[in-house]
Amino acid sequence: MGIKVAKFGGSSLCDAEHFRKVKAIIESDPDYRYVVPSAPGKRFDGDEKITDLLYQCHRQVESNRSHEEIFKKIADRYLGIARELGLDFDVEGLLIETSNAIRQYKNPDFAASRGEYLNGMLLSKYLGWDFIDAQDVVKFDRQGSFASEWTNEIMREALQKHSHAVIPGFYGSYPNGDVHTFSRGGSDISGAIVARAAQADVYVNWTDVSGFMMADPRIVKNPKCIRELSYRELRELSYMGATVLHEDAIFPVHKAGIPTNIRNTNAPEDPGTMIVVNPSPDHRPGDQIITGIAGHKNFTLLSIEKAMMNSEYGFGRRVLQALEDFGVSFEHLPTGIDTMSVVVADKELVTRKDQIIQRIQQTCQPDSIEISAGIALIATVGHGMTSAPGTAARLFTALYEAGVNIRMIDQGSSEMNIIVGIDIKDFETAMNAIYRAFVKD
Ligand code: ASP
Repeated sequence: MGIKVAKFGGSSLCDAEHFRKVKAIIESDPDYRYVVPSAPGKRFDGDEKITDLLYQCHRQVESNRSHEEIFKKIADRYLGIARELGLDFDVEGLLIETSNAIRQYKNPDFAASRGEYLNGMLLSKYLGWDFIDAQDVVKFDRQGSFASEWTNEIMREALQKHSHAVIPGFYGSYPNGDVHTFSRGGSDISGAIVARAAQADVYVNWTDVSGFMMADPRIVKNPKCIRELSYRELRELSYMGATVLHEDAIFPVHKAGIPTNIRNTNAPEDPGTMIVVNPSPDHRPGDQIITGIAGHKNFTLLSIEKAMMNSEYGFGRRVLQALEDFGVSFEHLPTGIDTMSVVVADKELVTRKDQIIQRIQQTCQPDSIEISAGIALIATVGHGMTSAPGTAARLFTALYEAGVNIRMIDQGSSEMNIIVGIDIKDFETAMNAIYRAFVKD
């Protein structure tokens, strides 16, 4: 028998009907031993997430206003779920206690964490499993950074005492015991932490889509689902904007060599996407050499030109020093003989652009600096590209045929990604052109 850890997102636990689906999934496989729930999410367009309501409660309390009206909406959701599921415990008492604690502690993290805490309590009663409070087993250091090894030790010890348990996602505590949360969507990270500590065979992340798409479905119509991809590919795609999993959820399981399976609570028969350390060589259908495409808008290209730059010692360092001095990180660094370009996210430059340019002028004395805003980046990613000659030709031909001008090209030395910089206006056209060039229907 193996061990599986399941994490259910907010949409998978938004009401009693979804709790029933979750129970059916868990009971269909005896390998499920630990479950990590999010707080109830939206039930329909325009609905409110419990976490958002909890932050609103905190803001009320902080400005010395009553949070009761908002808390009532929260209480009604949990009471409704408990009633429909016929749960026999004092949910009302727990809610009163929670409301008082939110008022008393005046702490945003504590308030937000109650969404997962209450949902975890309900789910543990419904499944008849033990409840482990994440406050006791997920630790942050005093600065609020996640303490991975400390957590792994205490989480492992705790799990050994419970053959089946529910551990709420999203929060943990500082060394002094005060509650602290991950960033939004952080229950994905909690699930990965539990999977690592349980030495699970697989971390199953149940959500409301049947896996990871090869491209953003809002841009490319009906993209194919990725059946299998590596953690490295996922990292490249998520960094460039593809979202399904919280970015930081990759590290605990990748480190432990545990695969992550993204599945759909509303279509449990779909196999979903498997994220693995080493993908099998034949995991891509037919001759498909790419794994996915992702992109981001709003970058600026700083092109610095100086005759004989290539023979000048320290030129590149001085350019990057100017960025570092103003706390700006860069994305890419394509260089020519006498030109060096730096790609920076617009949001990094907002208030510091003029100072950085001035500093580069002073320390590098370039012949010219050209600033091009309005750049979008698109990454085409896949291990299959590494050994396939002609990949770049196919990609650039597709862009040429679609009339897209390429402003910048960057290929990582691993050869598993090619990144192109284009004008923002060409973003959608370019994504579709690349997708069609590599993926046959
Ligand atoms: N409930 C939290 C949020 O809405 C955490 C999570 O769902 O993963 O961000």
